[in-house]
Amino acid sequence: MTCLECKNVLTYIDHKSAMATLGVELCARHKALIDKLTKKYGTPKEAIQLYYGLKKAGANPTLAWWDGKKSIDIAISRVKLNIEIDTEYLMITEDRAIEHLEETMHSFKNGFTTIRIPHDLVTYYFNETVSNILGIIEGLKTNIRLI
Ligand SMILES: [Zn+2]
Repeated sequence: MTCLECKNVLTYIDHKSAMATLGVELCARHKALIDKLTKKYGTPKEAIQLYYGLKKAGANPTLAWWDGKKSIDIAISRVKLNIEIDTEYLMITEDRAIEHLEETMHSFKNGFTTIRIPHDLVTYYFNETVSNILGIIEGLKTNIRLI
């Protein structure tokens, strides 16, 4: 077991603590950095899991990307794709839903595509979620080339 960031071998305690809270293999130092980030921006742990999954798949993601107004859970800047993890989708109000739609509209106007992924998908359909996002990235790349 090694840290996903620095490849240092993890101690049993480090592994256990990172897996229990974030669900990814990180050393104490990198776990602390991620903890700081998630506290500051409210990034859900599923975003961190998905980030490392996309990174492993070679997608060049950015975690907690600041777009000038707010933090985007994961951004793929090469194709201007923003990925938000929805943790509240089961009890979403109309107000929140219209807010989301407006955010999507604004980012679209600025050339960004926003997709919202329910956190349960990351938990229960991890590989499918990663491969669908890779497909979206491929599609966006093709469209960029066409323009
Ligand atoms: Zn590390």
